[in-house]
Amino acid sequence: MLVLVINAGSSSLKYQLLDTKTRKVFAKGNCERIGIDGSFIGHEENGGEKQKLEVALPNHEVAVKHVFQILKDADIDANKIGGIGHRVVQGGWYFPESKVVTDETLGWVREVAPLAPLHNYAEADVIDICHRMFPNIGNVIVTDTAFHYNMPEKAYRYALPRDVVDKFHIRKYGAHGTSHRYIWRETSKFLNGDVHQLVSCHLGSGASLCAIQDGHSMDTTMGLTPLDGLIMGTRCGTIDPATVCYLEREGHYTVDQVDTMMNKQSGLLALSGVSSDSRDIEKGAAEGNKNCQMALEMFYYRTSQLIAEMAQSMHGFDTMVFTAGIGENSDTMRKGIVDQLAWFGVKLDDRKNAVRSDDPRIISADDSSVKVLVVPTNEELMIALDVEELLSK
Ligand code: AMP
Repeated sequence: MLVLVINAGSSSLKYQLLDTKTRKVFAKGNCERIGIDGSFIGHEENGGEKQKLEVALPNHEVAVKHVFQILKDADIDANKIGGIGHRVVQGGWYFPESKVVTDETLGWVREVAPLAPLHNYAEADVIDICHRMFPNIGNVIVTDTAFHYNMPEKAYRYALPRDVVDKFHIRKYGAHGTSHRYIWRETSKFLNGDVHQLVSCHLGSGASLCAIQDGHSMDTTMGLTPLDGLIMGTRCGTIDPATVCYLEREGHYTVDQVDTMMNKQSGLLALSGVSSDSRDIEKGAAEGNKNCQMALEMFYYRTSQLIAEMAQSMHGFDTMVFTAGIGENSDTMRKGIVDQLAWFGVKLDDRKNAVRSDDPRIISADDSSVKVLVVPTNEELMIALDVEELLSK
């Protein structure tokens, strides 16, 4: 099935048109600066050169119309598209799995939007636009939280007063669920089913770990929002929650200032003082920059600590997988993390770790206590497969 996958943000809209059978990507691109001066679309077809199209994108509706026009110009008419998959960041308590778009399910995306206001409102608008514009194409909602929804209560419940938790729907929702689910699927296929307790390490500019037992999420490091857990590109990850109260009371920061600080000005960026991009930090560290060295040391320390936490939630692990920008590309960071787990007998084969490839591969030494793999993630394909499955029913 030919599926268009859409990932809308407050001022951006990424799209990818792919075939679920062959996995071939026919076209992909990104509408940038929607509603802001200087908007443009970066578009590429069949793996060719990226073109930059400078077009006015006053709102998401215009952006969607441009995307369909671009596809039409490439000879892909809307009636050839079998379905549209929408990535939604927060599914709240309504999406333990992906669902076909109806007025009711669209309403749910809006109802839970206060939990992820920067994303869900824009996503709901775009779903609505596609649903109205192309009534003959099925639309499907795939949420980042669905995979984690059925984790054990002891893992998702917060130790806050029950009335507060109930009133505000506070719990660990997690994120990157589509990626973690894909990683389970691919790893299981690659190892011919010889995997039971997997720690999936999605390390990109956003980063999270997931404890997956026989295909089920048992725990994850992101929480009510994606701010929790690991040190990320610009997010601080887990800190004492009282820091927020302290900054507001003593530093006279507003709620929005603290929110921006912790989401956009912290993490590797703040620690290194150089960049949020791990490549710049690795370079800085190699050149002797002490802040970059500490940023890496802290990243290895926290990530390995939380890998152990994920393993503990399953009372063991047999496999760990690195994925996403850092996990797939940085042999230095993979080694930095795994070296912290040497006390437990986890060991890399340095030669295998140095190999660059787009295919799943084992990088651990033969005598490692746990298999370590690199498995490239593909959230768009996972979304497209959900679209195919739901619309074929
Ligand atoms: P993602 O969010 O999965 O796209 O990952 C983005 C992050 O991955 C970047 O900020 C970099 O820190 C890292 N990254 C991407 N490509 C590479 C690479 N070739 N080598 C090392 N790190 C990379």
